[in-house]
Amino acid sequence: MIDSFNRNITYLRLSVTELCNLRCRYCMPEEGICKKRHEDMLTQEEMLQAVHVCAALGIRKVRVTGGEPLVKPNIVSLCREIAAIEGIDELCLTTNGTLLAPMADQLKQAGVDRLNISLDTLDEQKYRMITRGGELAEARNGIRAALDAGFLKIKINAVLIGGFNTDEIASLANLTRQYPMDVRFIELMPMVDNRNFGPDAYVPNTIVLEKLPELEPIPVDGGVAKLYRLPGALGEIGLISPVSAHFCAECNRIRITADGKVKPCLHSSDEISIKGLDETGMFTKIKSAILKKPQWHGELSYYERSHARRSMNQIGG
Ligand code: SAM
Ligand code: SF4
Repeated sequence: MIDSFNRNITYLRLSVTELCNLRCRYCMPEEGICKKRHEDMLTQEEMLQAVHVCAALGIRKVRVTGGEPLVKPNIVSLCREIAAIEGIDELCLTTNGTLLAPMADQLKQAGVDRLNISLDTLDEQKYRMITRGGELAEARNGIRAALDAGFLKIKINAVLIGGFNTDEIASLANLTRQYPMDVRFIELMPMVDNRNFGPDAYVPNTIVLEKLPELEPIPVDGGVAKLYRLPGALGEIGLISPVSAHFCAECNRIRITADGKVKPCLHSSDEISIKGLDETGMFTKIKSAILKKPQWHGELSYYERSHARRSMNQIGG
């Protein structure tokens, strides 16, 4: 469906849970979040109905996200049912990878086409620090299992944080030389609740180009990512720059949260509830949400925070 600014909305990010087994410092408060009442969250049937409605409105790609989608019971069957919905051509899933190893095969069989796996550092101490207790070895096992399961074009998502991992840009990028995977550097986004990062943490993605002058631009449309390749590498490097160079004019996505709110824009406070609605009700609300999608998300910086009223685990990234 075409929105009010002539953008074709074809991509749904569906957050299936707010819960997570990690507590990444840029995403979630240390104490976690107040668990909402079960009856306030979308049921599996409501999620599937919402995807049906989205497909009728022109959505072709769905990304399952969270929280950590792999902590959700029945995630495999949910993926299988989404993949079977008419009109959905591509099903992707974003995960921190730590629970992936025993599930990678099942997700592939269920019809998940692509995986994005978040990994900000290759150092186990730093991994523990940024995730507040996660084990790097588990994420690495997950990545290996995804490769073994035959997932193609796996994307590693690394949030770039000044003073934390800018010294690892080359080693993270080198993963594309060792494995048939892409690495995407994502600028840290200033959510209201991640004030534990000072202004220096917000580094523009141009630092990747400074550190890796050998990167060759790939002249194709990478969606929201600008694409590059290290000479001879198997995979691509993507730069996603929501802060330094917003891509709102090309934004083709809407989001649905686990508690049933359609978010036309990640950084806006607008939320349209679809919880408890029948198919017709959902159709009307999701259509109106697409028409309400703003032209852009406004300035973002350490000083100009996101207007989203939620932490990232409650949105889905
Ligand atoms: N738990 C899964 C994971 O970590 O991949 C999926 C949900 S997570 C919210 C989705 C993505 O959002 C992850 O790649 C994460 O690194 C990213 N993210 C979370 N908070 C962010 C922030 N403040 N700025 C930039 N990216 C962020
Ligand atoms: Fe959990 Fe993903 Fe947020 Fe980290 S980024 S706390 S893994 S939801």
